Amino acid sequence: MSYKTIDSKDVEYLKSVVGENRIFTKEDISEDFSHDELGGVSNMPDLLISALSTEEVSKIMKYAYDNNISVVARGSGTGLVGASVPLDGGIMINLTGMNKILELDEENLTLTLEPGVLLMEISKFVEEHDLFYPPDPGEKSATIGGNISTNAGGMRAVKYGVTRDYVRGLEVVLPNGKVVEFGGKVVKNSSGYSLKDLLVGSEGTLGIITKAILRLLPLPKKSISLLVPFPDLNKAIGTVPKIIKSKAIPTAIEFMQREVILSAEKFLGKKFPDNSSDAYLLLTFDGNSKEEIEEAYDKVANICLEEGAIDVFIVDTDERKEAVWSARGAFLEAVKASTTEMDECDVVVPRNRVAEFINYTDELQKEFNIRIRSFGHAGDGNLHVYVLKDELAQDIWKNKLLEVFDAMYNKAIELKGLVSGEHGIGYAKRKYMFKQYGDEYMSVMRGIKTAFDPENILNPGKVCE
Ligand SMILES: Cc1cc2nc3c(=O)[nH]c(=O)nc-3n(C[C@H](O)[C@H](O)[C@H](O)COP(=O)(O)OP(=O)(O)OC[C@H]3O[C@@H](n4cnc5c(N)ncnc54)[C@H](O)[C@@H]3O)c2cc1C
Repeated sequence: MSYKTIDSKDVEYLKSVVGENRIFTKEDISEDFSHDELGGVSNMPDLLISALSTEEVSKIMKYAYDNNISVVARGSGTGLVGASVPLDGGIMINLTGMNKILELDEENLTLTLEPGVLLMEISKFVEEHDLFYPPDPGEKSATIGGNISTNAGGMRAVKYGVTRDYVRGLEVVLPNGKVVEFGGKVVKNSSGYSLKDLLVGSEGTLGIITKAILRLLPLPKKSISLLVPFPDLNKAIGTVPKIIKSKAIPTAIEFMQREVILSAEKFLGKKFPDNSSDAYLLLTFDGNSKEEIEEAYDKVANICLEEGAIDVFIVDTDERKEAVWSARGAFLEAVKASTTEMDECDVVVPRNRVAEFINYTDELQKEFNIRIRSFGHAGDGNLHVYVLKDELAQDIWKNKLLEVFDAMYNKAIELKGLVSGEHGIGYAKRKYMFKQYGDEYMSVMRGIKTAFDPENILNPGKVCE
């Protein structure tokens, strides 16, 4: 696709929409806006516009639509698959300035807010009102617009589900500039195709979210974590299906290996409560009474010990909680800091196939003589596997990465898994999704894209293209 090159007339019009101070041309745009955290792709936008209202976004989109200019929506840029990179230049709309919490409705248990509100601000705000927004992705500086657009998952998905499960309604600016509301405050909705759910996870390719209505829950009164050391990863991960089968339902079940813990200790300059074992499960339980939680974690602690756990540490003091969860939150950054370059595979497999997948990545590590590190959400089958470049020459790295990735995604298909559990497809993972879904599935997806965006101006080159 070719798009119109932005000229001074376009800039003049757009200045008339947002004023002089919120428009930046190429040389004034920070390099940060050319890439996200990991997608392995970069390109500068021609124009960066900081929007402050739905009306502004609508006018920018209408102008772009009428003039064949490509547009990319940008949250905090913490994505990991290159989804927010403006491959064709064009306009980037920065939504972080639309950051107001608009309404807490305690009668309907909903929170209405603008897309630039950060995840960390949401939890702080609702918890002050004894309420709870369960989705808990690791990067708390991401925007809610970004979280919704990637259907972000996070640690609590085992018990509470993912972002899509907490989006009741959306206000969206379509590529032609029209503003449409999808869903609302209603609890039930059987009213035609669920376009709201389709927009969640659409990675900024179908419309720009300018307002969201989130579903809240009462804040659980108590929570406790267990850190469980195992002699090896197989024993640790092999225990997870047994925990699930016991119907105990922890809030989170994360797995981690010693190498990753050591990287996090080095990165944070802080000690983890224990690093003497090869592998660990980190589990959380929440509920409204001590007895309720104790019953659940006793049952799970016994299962772990029966399956070969070395010990069970209860993480109940604030100090221990901080040590464990700050290390868990830093794993990605710590692994990144331990190498020169890396890429990530975020597959999701059925929960009882996780061990098989991780064992396979161990075989690949040996076969290709390349460092592979993994951690992730064992309780929902979503793995984060990082292939590290270290000191490899660029051409050897690129070839090995391709071969290792092909092998991992093929294995995920064999195990009846899917390409992405929570980070999305963006730019970097398209070819693996195309391969998995095949022509029929992809043609339905492309038809949906065309229905929303017939001129293909919104985030071109992503997801289904
Ligand atoms: C250390 C670290 C840990 C992470 N942990 C997790 C995790 O546990 N779980 C998880 O799911 N992800 C995780 N992520 C990935 C990332 O934080 C999420 O993908 C997040 O949802 C991106 O939000 P953002 O505001 O940074 O969006 P961006 O990266 O700016 O954009 C992401 C996509 O959303 C689109 N978009 C952004 N705002 C809008 C909008 N208002 N309307 C339409 N489209 C929009 C963009 O065009 C792009 O396609 C992690 C990332 C890091 C760096």
